[in-house]
Formats: sequence, structure tokens, C-alpha cells
Amino acid sequence: MENKETKRTDVNKLGEFGLIDHLTHDIVLQNKSSRRGIGDDAAVIDHGDLQTVVSSDMLVEGIHFDMMYTPLKHLGYKSVIVNLSDIYAMNARPTQITVSIAFSNRYSVEAIDELYEGILLACKLYNVDLVGGDTTSSPKGLIISITAIGEAKNEDIVYRDGAQSGDIICVSGDLGAAYLGLQILEREKQIYLEAPQVQPDLENQEYCLRRFLKPEARKDTIEYFAKHGFKPTSMIDISDGLASELFHICKQSDVGAYIEEDKVSIQPDAYQLALKFNVNPITCALNGGEDYELLFTVKPDDLEKVRFMPGVYLIGDILDKKEGINLHSSGGNIYPLEAQGWQHFKAE
Ligand code: ADP
Ligand code: MG
Repeated sequence: MENKETKRTDVNKLGEFGLIDHLTHDIVLQNKSSRRGIGDDAAVIDHGDLQTVVSSDMLVEGIHFDMMYTPLKHLGYKSVIVNLSDIYAMNARPTQITVSIAFSNRYSVEAIDELYEGILLACKLYNVDLVGGDTTSSPKGLIISITAIGEAKNEDIVYRDGAQSGDIICVSGDLGAAYLGLQILEREKQIYLEAPQVQPDLENQEYCLRRFLKPEARKDTIEYFAKHGFKPTSMIDISDGLASELFHICKQSDVGAYIEEDKVSIQPDAYQLALKFNVNPITCALNGGEDYELLFTVKPDDLEKVRFMPGVYLIGDILDKKEGINLHSSGGNIYPLEAQGWQHFKAE
């Protein structure tokens, strides 16, 4: 008999993306309707005239949220938003969600009601129907798993792999604030644990807190593309930080890129807060994550269409693969945008 105990690989050795690849690289799609499987913001299923777009995300207490500083209504709202963001990232319109929850007996009916208030508010504001799910108990904490379903015409769908040399790189808003919102909450938590009588210092921090606790998804960006009759060549939502998402686009499109530090927008309160926390603001924008903005590329011919797009920043260009992926710093230096390439930028 084979001894299954002999080999034990630590999951951390592969990392999240390595593990997904390890688990799924042999999968061959069997149904003609499975137009696009693993590897984009959402799967695409061919239903004739309209394509169905599907994406899932799971939020786990203690990993993705901390009940010490997360209002349940906001958590419900955010858990819907993170899923809708993946549907928008395909240039599709979300139409339904399913919600599955598992929770321990620490949670009361009133607590789960609050969570649902947030879930239903997001459904209402984004015109999405809650059509099913599952409810069960967990030995510890709260787990929320949401699947979002959307639709789009086949010719409208935008994947991660369509960027070409010469395309312009755009971001739908400012970056880094959500990460700083999380830092504020973590700091206040530590202060509270050490000295519960100290009042929280939350002045000028509303923006960052809102960006972290109650983000929005870029429905308006997708609507703008439709209204002005054009579409990006590639797109992804920024959940893990601009650098990581740009890597996904470049890898899947087989191209290089540069972005300009000065063109990446950081909201003023977030900028000041980064300096206060002694981190470089651009580091927060590049690697912070949880911003739920859209990173997309457009053909040079569409420059005039994106130049005046409200809230959109043109941050760089797609290049040939051999050029690599670089950051042009404010000081005129060029740094390879490797995973850790920014770490030597310390705040002044
Ligand atoms: P996103 O950040 O856009 O939510 P992820 O990084 O979570 O995307 O996932 C990348 C891709 O891998 C997606 O296509 C997703 O559906 C797929 N994926 C993630 N986890 C699994 C899994 N356990 N089994 C199969 N596919 C998975
Ligand atoms: Mg995504």
C-alpha cells in the first residue's frame, strides 16, 4: 500500500496563485459553452446572444475582516461589492448573486440581520437580485461566500490578455487609501487593547476609512464605455494592488509596460496619512490593495475618449515584452516593478 504520509508540501511554498495553478493546470474544458475558465476576473459561459459571466469570492473572519472594527452592515455591503467588481472587470453587467454564510453561535439573528441589511443595500444600489445561497454553522467565526452572475454581449467582453504594445494604461480612480484605512483601524485596535479609555483619533481619516470599510464598484466606468461606444483592450479590477494587477495583464497579454509614479493618483488625506505612518505613498498605491478600481488599457486611437473620462488617470503605456515592467519615479529614475522592487523607496 502506498504511504500517503511520506510527502507533505506546505501550502505557503506555492502561494495563492501557485496553488490555484497547481490545482487547476490539468483542467480541460469539456463543454462548448465554457468559453473562458480559470484565469480571469470571471468565467465566461456562452449562451448564444448573451454571455453569462460568473465570479466567486469568499471572506473569512480573522483573515479578511476583524469583527473588532468592522460594522456588519458595511461587511455585507463590501462582500457584495468585491464580487460585482470582478463582473465589471469583464465589461459585463452584474444581474444576480448567491450568498452563502457559515457562522458560529457567537452571532445572533440581529447580527446576521445587520449583515443582510448591507448585502441588500448593495443589491438595490447596483440593481442585482439575490437569488439563492446556503446557510450553515461554523465552529468559529463568520464566513461569507458570494457568487456574482452577470451578462454581456460576446463582442463587449474584455479579458486580461488583450493588451498590445502602444496601448495606454488607465486607472479608474485614486489608489492606496483603502490600505491606509486598514492601517488606521489596526492602529486604533492596538491602542484600544492597550488603553481602552483613549478616544480614537479619526480626524481627516473618513476618506480612507470609507475606502476600506465601504468601497464601491466601478459601475460608472462600464457605463461610460457603453455610452461612448468603445471598449478597453484588457481590464482587471485592483483587489491586490496596482503592481500585482499590472503583472497579471502583462503576463497574460505577453507584453511589457511602464507606469509613471507622478500619474498615479493618491487622494490628499491618504497621501498625508502615508507620510504619518512613515510609508511612501506610492508604495501604498502600488501594493496596498482593496481599492476596487479598474485597471484597463485602451488603443492609442481611443486616447481622446479616455482623456476626458471623469476620474480616470492615464498612468503609462504598454510596451514590448522585452522592455520589462518598469516604474518611472518622480525623481527621474527607472525601477523594475518587481514584486518587491519598490521596497527601497522609503518615505523621506
Ligand atoms: P480575483 O482576484 O479576480 O477574485 P483570484 O485571484 O481569486 O481572482 O482567482 C484567479 C482565478 O483562479 C479565477 O479565474 C478564479 O475563478 C480561479 N480560482 C481561484 N480559486 C480557485 C479554486 N480553488 N479552484 C478553481 N479555480 C479557482
Ligand atoms: Mg479580480
